[in-house]
Amino acid sequence: MHETIFLQFYSRRKSGVYNLLNGFSDTYDLCRRHGEPRWYPEAPDKRNERQYDHYAANPPPIRKGTVFISALDVNHLYQSWVWADLHPDITFVVGGPVAAEINTDGPRRQPAYVRVDDPAALPQNFVLTGKSVETWFGVPDFSGPWRLELPGGIAPDSPIYFSYTLDNICFWNRCIYCNMGCHDRQNNRRRTDMAFEFQHLPFEGVKQVRLNTGSLTPHHIRNLLPLLPRGETFQYRTFMRPAAAETRALRDAIAAAQGPLPEMVLGFGVEFPSMRMLAHIQKGFTPEEMMTALELCSAHHIRVNGNVIVGWNNLTPGDIDALASFFDRMPHGAFRTLQLRWLFAHPFTAIHDRYRGTPRTFGPFYEGFSVALDNAEQIALNRTAVEIILRHGPMKGYTVQGLAKVKEHLD
Ligand code: SF4
Repeated sequence: MHETIFLQFYSRRKSGVYNLLNGFSDTYDLCRRHGEPRWYPEAPDKRNERQYDHYAANPPPIRKGTVFISALDVNHLYQSWVWADLHPDITFVVGGPVAAEINTDGPRRQPAYVRVDDPAALPQNFVLTGKSVETWFGVPDFSGPWRLELPGGIAPDSPIYFSYTLDNICFWNRCIYCNMGCHDRQNNRRRTDMAFEFQHLPFEGVKQVRLNTGSLTPHHIRNLLPLLPRGETFQYRTFMRPAAAETRALRDAIAAAQGPLPEMVLGFGVEFPSMRMLAHIQKGFTPEEMMTALELCSAHHIRVNGNVIVGWNNLTPGDIDALASFFDRMPHGAFRTLQLRWLFAHPFTAIHDRYRGTPRTFGPFYEGFSVALDNAEQIALNRTAVEIILRHGPMKGYTVQGLAKVKEHLD
């Protein structure tokens, strides 16, 4: 029997939160008209080793027909390719951020997140859409009502985490390790009617809503945050640049909200908080601007998670002093967690051209590389930065995450 299904992955985290990777919520009715939406439990691959046999052991969702897949990360893309390789009677049409975003800067159109060097080697039954579902079926983006049907068996005391897409762009687009700037603008999508349909979700437990966008614009902050549905069961997660314009907008949003903003966790790209390094990375804000944003969030009990990148090959002792001074001056409790990441060079980014490292390929896809440092002085400076961040954790009330992976590069 030929079937058509729309497949979304989901997983249960150690914390008990159900992570619903709901790529078809904006087009639920459209998908329903063409086939059956279906959830698929994600096969854990914690170290992202992408062993073919590991993915091949997952049974395909149907025996024959067409599977539309929402690929939110490269493991989903890899799973789709492995299935296509093994099951020629099934056509896999793969969309979602890692498959639908297309880079037009190079000699030909191809995925922006992973490079495909030999498109001819892709199986015939494996289609990288390069389109949103709406565009694929010829209807305007965001033209249907948002809807989420939950996988069975989720108890109300298990929080659920899902996405509500604001847009698929970043208005800033300049950070040198990020490839958002090379995405085909014809694929840009923006939700204009903010109906917050998830407020009617028939689920009584905690709903963690990820407001999807590269980075909130001042307009989003000023006009959207005060309108978010509130209540004990709603929590929000999103990214904001801690730049002066965004902080001004956040101050206005706090004033307009007439009471506390809904519970939210803002993600800040701290990267490396020295004036020189932030300018080098082209973040468009200074350490002082970030400090002002942190003070505002701290004063209004808005939780912040920070992302710090180490692995740079151009640090100076002055950068280390500036980082130490930043952490000394930071208000206690300003960050809830600090996520350490080692610099990764994605294809089509400035970092990819400037650094070297061991290429990561999986099947026909090239993902980039973790940068390799061979200069003893730079390794020592990066190590000192990590030590300063670790030392300030207990004093400033934040938890450090990602240390084990970073240490692999420094030890
Ligand atoms: S602000 Fe974030 S999404 Fe935007 S370019 Fe920088 S890293 Fe990329």
